Amino acid sequence: MRNLDPLVNDETAWAAFAERDRRFDGKVFGAVTTTGIYCKPSCPARRPKREHVVFYATAEEARASGYRACLRCRPDDVSRDSIAVRGAVALIEQAEEAPSLAELAAAVGYAPHHFQRLFSRALGVSPAAYARGLRARRAERHLEENDRVTDAIYDAGYQSPSGFYSDSRERLGMTPSAWRDGGRGETIRFVVADSPLGPLLIAATAKGICRLTFGEDEAALRRQFPNAAIRPDDGTIAPWVDGALTAIRQPEAAPDLPLDVRGTAFQEKVWQELRKIPLGQTRSYADIAAAIGQPGAVRAVGTANGSNPVSVLVPCHRVIRSDGTLGGYGGGLPNKRKLLAAEGITVAAPELPLVD
Ligand SMILES: [Zn+2]
Repeated sequence: MRNLDPLVNDETAWAAFAERDRRFDGKVFGAVTTTGIYCKPSCPARRPKREHVVFYATAEEARASGYRACLRCRPDDVSRDSIAVRGAVALIEQAEEAPSLAELAAAVGYAPHHFQRLFSRALGVSPAAYARGLRARRAERHLEENDRVTDAIYDAGYQSPSGFYSDSRERLGMTPSAWRDGGRGETIRFVVADSPLGPLLIAATAKGICRLTFGEDEAALRRQFPNAAIRPDDGTIAPWVDGALTAIRQPEAAPDLPLDVRGTAFQEKVWQELRKIPLGQTRSYADIAAAIGQPGAVRAVGTANGSNPVSVLVPCHRVIRSDGTLGGYGGGLPNKRKLLAAEGITVAAPELPLVD
């Protein structure tokens, strides 16, 4: 396999085909030596044996090697689509101000509605969300170079600091390299604060809160980030600690706080979805699974919900069972009940001693 996207190797390519993973459409093409046909990963046709498949980074390369496009999955259309998506990404990245959907679609020769779907399917976010993420990443880069936060925010093209924080509310996950390596290179400050729900561990990097849990201590933090410099807070993160405590005491007055957390792609998708549940409302695990487009993944959603590293701020307590009972909670069911009660929700059904 030559010239592949550096993130796609033979193994991930085969896994993408095995799972008919649309996200890899346009990134890799699989050609079947026995039939002479090449497909995109999401092709609905039956899977050939692994030893009969070779991978190409582009449809052109597959054709140059003598393969023909599958009539069922039309991999060349994907190729055109991905060129359009890449073109739009380049436009967004070069632009001072994010282009509108209509401008982007016109520039790459697609109808806006169709292009929006295409783009979202390829990258998992809409063009507007992509532009917001890009702007936020630029702000982060500035933050690293320049700790005068407000300047950095204006430098990155935000109208106001509140714009920055409302964007960061939509986003999760930063500096993946540091997280992958147990937090190497990161300084994490923490406090154990008293709260109406008992002692709370609140920890943050320079970019945002990375852990908020009930009844944990420094040791838990060291287990999660074995390579980070862990320090008791010297006041640096005090405003975020206050904000987190407000989110517990008076949820309706909770400020938008920056988060610095990272999970698997699936976990992050679930956590993003949890952040969309409005104050005072609940969802079932099945609702969340449906909302992320994986209605069959109810159990996995429960697990991702349970592995949320920032309680309250990623409101996993707003997810209850379809039958109206509480379900599980890492911080203890009494705390889940209290958090919901503070938002005006009473869960009357009996608690079941079940684990999600
Ligand atoms: Zn096909």
